[in-house]
Amino acid sequence: MSVSSRVGFGIDVHAFGTGDHVMLGGVRVAHDHGVRAHSDGDVVIHALCDALLGAAGLGDIGQHFPDTDPQWRGAASSLLLEKVVTMLTARGFEPVNVDVTIIAERPRIGPHREAIRHRLAELVGLAPEAVNLKATTTEQLGAIGRGEGIAAHAVVLVDSLAREA
Ligand code: MG
Repeated sequence: MSVSSRVGFGIDVHAFGTGDHVMLGGVRVAHDHGVRAHSDGDVVIHALCDALLGAAGLGDIGQHFPDTDPQWRGAASSLLLEKVVTMLTARGFEPVNVDVTIIAERPRIGPHREAIRHRLAELVGLAPEAVNLKATTTEQLGAIGRGEGIAAHAVVLVDSLAREA
């Protein structure tokens, strides 16, 4: 057995719509808007799923969970993340660490940072110390700066436990 490391990157954006909360990293965060989405619109988990799939060379979240498929309507994104982690594990990949950045003017992330970090760690099967969460605004520039939506970027490292030839 030889171990090689691979990096993956993911990004997701959702527009705000009507509602009273947003889901961020599997944590319900009270807000004066919800997000418009086919699933629960969890930008953190969607970005993280794409990062994990990217590291494993497994395409993207839309290929595995198409938004035209009624079974994913209103789906809890935590379920999608668990499925992605299972897919990686089945192919001999093991997440090493996760780094996520949320980009939004509001809601404020600080009060929820530890809850989100711990929930992501639980879902990915990592120690909380291996999951980092950052938050930034765009200084009121652009659509996100005008409060029209929320975005997240995620980077992961995975180890590939490949068999030697
Ligand atoms: Mg999404």
